[in-house]
Amino acid sequence: MIALNDFGRQWQVVAPRVLEAVARVGKSGRYILGAEVERFEAAIAKRFDVTHAVGVGNGMDALEIALRCLDLRLGEKVLTTPLSAFATTLAIIRAGGVPVFVDVDDFGALDLEKCRRLLERDRSIRFLLPVHLYGFVLDLEKLLQLKNEFDLRVVEDCAQAIGARAVGTVGQVNATSFYPTKNLGALGDGGALLTNDADISRRASALRNYGQTSQYVHETLGLNSRLDEMHAAIMTDALLPELDAWTKARREIASKYLAGISNSAICLLRPPTETKPVWHLFPILVAAHKRDHFREHLRSCGIQTGVHYPRLIPEQSAMKSVKFEIEGALTNSQKFSASEVSLPIHPFLSKTEIESIIDACNAWQA
Ligand SMILES: *Cc1c(COP(=O)(O)O)cnc(C)c1O
Repeated sequence: MIALNDFGRQWQVVAPRVLEAVARVGKSGRYILGAEVERFEAAIAKRFDVTHAVGVGNGMDALEIALRCLDLRLGEKVLTTPLSAFATTLAIIRAGGVPVFVDVDDFGALDLEKCRRLLERDRSIRFLLPVHLYGFVLDLEKLLQLKNEFDLRVVEDCAQAIGARAVGTVGQVNATSFYPTKNLGALGDGGALLTNDADISRRASALRNYGQTSQYVHETLGLNSRLDEMHAAIMTDALLPELDAWTKARREIASKYLAGISNSAICLLRPPTETKPVWHLFPILVAAHKRDHFREHLRSCGIQTGVHYPRLIPEQSAMKSVKFEIEGALTNSQKFSASEVSLPIHPFLSKTEIESIIDACNAWQA
């Protein structure tokens, strides 16, 4: 079976460096918030060209902490997408905000034109939380224009787009996740806030550690959301150094799919090449009533597929108990949730596997 992710193959590549990192941290006797986390923070800040990075427990906490650092008020609206990991919205709710769902565009990302129309109507809105979904890059110029024109506080959810050029440079904060399936995944949970704002960085460092500013001094009610020394060391030594090669591999596979898949029943998404997507996923669209059939066909060819995401966030039953708003019709979002299928695109796919995925797509009779 060709799986969506192949951690076994990844382990073969990274094992010696992971084990060395584990031994070093084990021997050091320092397991929480020490030199390894600082070293990792310095490394990712440099790699992503920002002045500050704060390692936290996971991507959802990174988003919550980011919103809190930008002084989100209780009950304040946050424009966001209904098509994402549930964590994107859950972070808004946990930070005390009210999610306002705006439809997505033709690439599955928050529609910035529709956001603009809403912002023009409701000048009280100060927060925007877009997601660089699938590893595609939102139109950053448009995002910057919106931010400046409406004086917005923007948190970019970069959990699926780490390594993409200029992603995370518009928002005051870029929040990302090191969940194992992500393009830069840890061997466990992890996340980070990236920012050029020293004050945000300082506040985030306190918030991740019970709101502690110095030992036993608590000025705000924080979280317990610390990145482990072990994961920090593993990421600095074994995973981060591979990110560029893995991103390159994902892009090469995407080009092969885009050139090779040719089936009138399959709609390929072609984000503009100059935006340099990092292809966290390879999403395609098929007719909603044929999706199960397509996935079954691929399964019978030994290929695992995914769906991102089968149910829109405002339609989750957990949302029944919270306040949220929906802006206009969510037509494109509905289309993605009913029609999207993700093909395997992890960097360890072999040439033969890539070809067999292309062949299986082309052989499908809808
Ligand atoms: C994975 C993901 C998150 C949450 O990250 P965790 O580390 O699992 O908390 C948030 N947003 C998006 C878009 C994601 O893909």
